[in-house]
Amino acid sequence: MSNNPIPASDIALNRRKFIIAATSATGALMLAPVVNKASAILIKDEPYTVGQIMDMFIKQVPGGALSETVDTLKSGNRDIKVTGIVTAMFATVAVIRKAIELGANFIIAHEPTFYNHADETKWLENDEVYQYKVKLLKEHNIAVWRNHDYIHRMVPDGVTDGVLDQLQWKKYADAKIPNILTMPATSLKDLIGYVKDKLSVDKVRYIGDPNLSCSRVLFMPGAPGGQRQIQAIAKVKPDVLIAGELQEWETAEYVRDAVAEGKKIALVVVGHIASEDPGSEYMKNWVTKNVPGIKVTRVKPGNSLSFM
Ligand SMILES: [Zn+2]
Repeated sequence: MSNNPIPASDIALNRRKFIIAATSATGALMLAPVVNKASAILIKDEPYTVGQIMDMFIKQVPGGALSETVDTLKSGNRDIKVTGIVTAMFATVAVIRKAIELGANFIIAHEPTFYNHADETKWLENDEVYQYKVKLLKEHNIAVWRNHDYIHRMVPDGVTDGVLDQLQWKKYADAKIPNILTMPATSLKDLIGYVKDKLSVDKVRYIGDPNLSCSRVLFMPGAPGGQRQIQAIAKVKPDVLIAGELQEWETAEYVRDAVAEGKKIALVVVGHIASEDPGSEYMKNWVTKNVPGIKVTRVKPGNSLSFM
């Protein structure tokens, strides 16, 4: 709270506060004169809290806050003052260690932290792996927020947007449902090669004729479940469904039967992580744009499973 003029570098950081101060003091935006007046008290360096950043994102989601959601804090609390942000698909132990190394105490993750959708932890209380992770987070006072339901409710869906960006497929996407893509015809084999390259996956599992001509592509990242995948195939009638994750006994069996029936259809399973990880890039860009002055880093957890 000194009377010194605020260094230029702090002005961007505190633009939010500055505007509040300026409007309340004068009813209009006046940049220069406000700095040395009483309202300058409001302009002091005050880091964002975890809760402020969460609220800022949720405010931009059509429909706003959800009464029931898995998008809760898995560690830490809303009042933690944010020193830096890491965006990641999962808050894995390796991602947490990287956050510590970066001096970041807020991880925005897409998927659960504790190995089940609702992050229920009662069943894990005596588990050593769980205890290690909780201790690591606590010791470094790190907040983990799962941003799953909200980012998927963005229009367009933030995860789909991120991954279509990485695939350079936005130009092929349907204006209303970007998961439906119409692209120049290419063989299934070449399409798979392209996807592997763009999403950095070594191998994929697939069903179909490698020479099948693919133009209408249904892209469903993540693990939406067998019924949704199967109903979408029946409705969209794609040449190929590119899926994140599936249950072998559901969608894969359906596609196998469809091929046996004589339908020209293929299925490609790229893996849940590969299909959704670029959502962390979307999130990183969101932070850069909306939370000025905070260091944000996208950390890639990589695929958990390898092929040999
Ligand atoms: Zn998702």
